[in-house]
Amino acid sequence: MSKKKEVFKPIRKGKVSMYVCGPTVYGLIHIGNARTFLTFDVLYRYLKYKGFAVKYVQNITDVGHLTDVGEDKIMVGAKKKNMNVFDFVNLMIEEYLKDLKSLNIEKPTFLPRASEHIQDIIDVVKKLIENGYAYESNGFVYYDISKFKNYGKLSGQNPEELQKKVEEEHGSRKNKGDFALWIPSPEDYPMKWESPWSIGFPGWHIECSTMSSKYLGIPFDIHGGGKDLIFPHHEDEIAQAEGATGKKFVNYWLHSEFIKINKKKMSKSLGNIISARDAVKKYGWRTIRYFLISSHYRKEVNFTEGEIENSQKAVDKLMDFVDRLKEIIPDSDYNSDFDKRIRILKKEFEDYMDDDLNVPQALSTTFKIVNETNKAIDEKTVSKKNLGEVLKLIKELDKVLGLKLDEKKQSEISDEAKKLIEERENLRKQKEFERADQIRNELEEKYGIILEDSPNGPRIKLKDKV
Ligand SMILES: [Zn+2]
Repeated sequence: MSKKKEVFKPIRKGKVSMYVCGPTVYGLIHIGNARTFLTFDVLYRYLKYKGFAVKYVQNITDVGHLTDVGEDKIMVGAKKKNMNVFDFVNLMIEEYLKDLKSLNIEKPTFLPRASEHIQDIIDVVKKLIENGYAYESNGFVYYDISKFKNYGKLSGQNPEELQKKVEEEHGSRKNKGDFALWIPSPEDYPMKWESPWSIGFPGWHIECSTMSSKYLGIPFDIHGGGKDLIFPHHEDEIAQAEGATGKKFVNYWLHSEFIKINKKKMSKSLGNIISARDAVKKYGWRTIRYFLISSHYRKEVNFTEGEIENSQKAVDKLMDFVDRLKEIIPDSDYNSDFDKRIRILKKEFEDYMDDDLNVPQALSTTFKIVNETNKAIDEKTVSKKNLGEVLKLIKELDKVLGLKLDEKKQSEISDEAKKLIEERENLRKQKEFERADQIRNELEEKYGIILEDSPNGPRIKLKDKV
C-alpha cells in the first residue's frame, strides 16, 4: 500500500494471519501461477521458521464467472471434458492439490471454496447495501465506488476516471468502475443460488473479502497474490471489506511479479504457456522450485533453457553437498572458529530473508556455507562434530527453501533400478567391468541414475527427474 518496505509488526504477538488469492479451477495451473504460490509458500515457511504461528488461508474459486467475452472458463472447461460442472471443479481441485504437492508447496491452513460460502457472501452483500455502498439493479448488485473514499488507493487508479457516469454499455451501473457483487444467472447455467436479488452467483471479488474476513478476522496481517490482481481485484476486496465492517482490511500487501518465456509474455495467442505439471515432468520438481524461488519475488523471472540448467546445477551441488556431509569422516579436531563462521552465515541468511524476503541473496549465503565447508573438508580442518552442525543447519534452512535436500534418494529409485545397481556391484566385485559399465549406462539412460564409485560403495546421483 505504501509502495515501500515497512517493518513487519504482527497484530497478535507471535502470530501471523495471511491470505493469498488461490486458483480459479478451470484447468491446470501454469508456471506463472506456480511462482505466486511458491513465493507465498517460502514466506509461510520462513514465518514458521522464525517461530510464528501462522494461519494461512487460500481461497479456491470454484464458482463460474462470466468474462468480458461472455464465456465462463469453468463451464468451457467442463464442456471440453464432457463433464458435469460440479464433478469438473472437484476434479480440478484435486489436480491443483497434486500440483502443489509435486512442487513441495505446503498446504495452507484453510482452503475454503467459494461454492461453500454463498450464504456468507450474501450476508456481506446485504450489509453493503445497508451501509449505502451497494445498490441493486435488475437482479444485479453493484458496488458504488463513488461511495468509498479510498477507492484506487492500492493500485493508484484515478477515482474520478472510474466514477465517470456511463451510458448504454454499462446501462445498469451508476459509475463506469462499479463492479458486480451479485450476478443473475443465465438460463442454462447450472451453478446458481437463490438470493434476495435474483437466482445467480456472486462476483469474484466478494468471495475473497468474505472468506478472508471469515477465517482470519479483520484486520489481518498479510494479503498476497500475483501482481495482476492489484486492480481491480484487490482494490475491490478493500472496498468491500472496509465498506461492510468500517474496519481496516489488511496491514501489509505483497504482490509477486510475472514470469516471461524467453523474454516474451506468456500468453494464449503466443502459444507459450507452460503448465506447472509439464515443467515438473520435463525438468524435475526441485529444479523448477529452485528456479521459481531464486529470483526476488518483486522481479520478473525469465524462463530460458539456460536459466533452468543453472538451477539444475545449483540443486545438484546442494544435494551432493548433503551427501558428502554424511559420507566424509574427517580426521581433524573440532574447529571452533569454523563453527563461529557457520553461525555468522546462518545469521546472514536470516538477515537477507528478513529484508523483504531476499531469497536470491539468502541462496548465495547458502552456497557460501557449501563452498567454505567443502574447502574445510578438503583441507582437513574440521571435525565430525563441525560437519554435524553444518548438516543440522542445512536441514534447518531447507525447511524454508523446501528442496528436500536430505531426502533419501533411495526412495526415489524403483525396485528394478535397485536390482540393477546391486547386480552391477556384484559384477564389479567379480571384475566383470565391461558388463558392469553396460549396466551403468543403462541406469543413466533409462532411469536417470548416475553412479559414482567411492571407497564406501557407489554414490547414487539422480538426474533431477520425477
Ligand atoms: Zn482474491
